[in-house]
Amino acid sequence: MRTWSKELSFSTRKHREIVDITDEVLAAARESGIKNGLLIAQLPHATASLVLNEGESGLKQDLLDKLEDLVPLRGDYKHDRIDDNAHAHLKSAFLGSSRVLPIVDGRVARGTWQNFLVIEEDGPRTRRLVIFVMGE
Ligand code: ZN
Repeated sequence: MRTWSKELSFSTRKHREIVDITDEVLAAARESGIKNGLLIAQLPHATASLVLNEGESGLKQDLLDKLEDLVPLRGDYKHDRIDDNAHAHLKSAFLGSSRVLPIVDGRVARGTWQNFLVIEEDGPRTRRLVIFVMGE
């Protein structure tokens, strides 16, 4: 079994936004040369999330709006006494920051509408994404 990894870096431009990094992740999977195995995508951050869903602009706005309904920017958060970004930590904790997908016959096994979406909740800033691939 082989392993391969790469770290992607990208910038977010807004305080809250969704960035579609599907092309970059799929390019990394191809670059790995591994035809059958597992791809792990890990966003090493506590105030952003990585989800798989449709990259359509209306849905991305729906996601941001619903997250704001569920965890408003302003609330009675203890963490805001030191850092003023509790809402971003909470959303990241609930949604998660890593995903594992199979690679089968050279293709990342994902649904047609499963794009790799980074949900930025504490931008703008530079974010990293670690891609780790193992297999044959
Ligand atoms: Zn914080």
